[in-house]
Amino acid sequence: MAVKSEIKKHLAQLAALQRIDSTLDALRRRRGNLPQQLRKLEDEIITLVHRKQRIEQELESAEKEVNRLYGEIELEKSRLEKYELQLDQITTHQDYEALQERIELSTLNIKAAEKSISRYRKAISEMEKVLNEINQTLEQKEKEKEEKQAKLDKIKEKVQEEEARLEKASKEAQEKLDAKWLELYLHIRRKMRNGIAVVTIDRDACGGCHITVPPQKIYEVRQKNKLIICENCGRIIVDNTFFGEEVKPKQKPKRRRGRRKKTTTAA
Ligand SMILES: [Zn+2]
Repeated sequence: MAVKSEIKKHLAQLAALQRIDSTLDALRRRRGNLPQQLRKLEDEIITLVHRKQRIEQELESAEKEVNRLYGEIELEKSRLEKYELQLDQITTHQDYEALQERIELSTLNIKAAEKSISRYRKAISEMEKVLNEINQTLEQKEKEKEEKQAKLDKIKEKVQEEEARLEKASKEAQEKLDAKWLELYLHIRRKMRNGIAVVTIDRDACGGCHITVPPQKIYEVRQKNKLIICENCGRIIVDNTFFGEEVKPKQKPKRRRGRRKKTTTAA
C-alpha cells in the first residue's frame, strides 16, 4: 500500500503544480498582445520618421534649386540690361544680329527658369502637404504608443508582484515533486499549447481534449493510486478532488475551476 499512497501524493503534487502554473499562465496572458502592438507601433513610427526625413531632404534641395534659378534669372536680366545699352552703340548689322541672338537666348533662359521654378513650386507644395499628413499621423501614433505603454505599465505593475509569488510557488512545487514525475509533467506541458498537462474528468470526458474516457479508466482515476494518461491527448488525468472539486454530476462544462481556492494539500 505504501507505493499506492506514494502515487496519490505525486498526483496531488502534480495537480498543485498545474494549478499554480495555470494561474501563472493566465496572469501572463493578461498582458495580452500589448507588447506586440507596442512594437508594431514603434516600427510604424520609425518608418514614418524615415519617410519624413527623406521628404524634408527632397524639399530642401528643391528650395535650393528654386533659389539657384532665381539667381540665374537675375543674372540673365542684368545681361539683358547690358545688351539693351549695347544696342545703341552698335554700328554693323553683323554685331546687331549677334546681340539680338544673345538677347533671345537670355530671354529663353529666363522663361525656362521660370517654368522650372513653377514646376518646383508645385512639387514643394505637394511635399509640404505630404509632410503635414505624416506629421499628423506621427503625432497620432506617438499618442497611441504612449497610451499603450501606460496601459502596459499599469498591468505589469499589477501582475509583477503576483507573478513573482507564483513563480516562486511553482519552483517550490517543482522541487517537491519526484524528478521522474516532474519530467513527465514538463514534457506534456511543453507539448500542449495551453500549457495544461494535468486535467480532471469533466462530464465523463478528458478535461483537456473532451474525448470520452472509458468507465474503467474513470474508475481508476477515482481510485487515485495510478497514473492515468489520456489516450487521446496524452495529458495526465487526475481525480477532481485534487483540484479542490468534488465529483460533480453532469453539468455545464467549467474547466480549471477552483483556482482561487487554496492549494490541495498532499495526502
Ligand atoms: Zn485528453
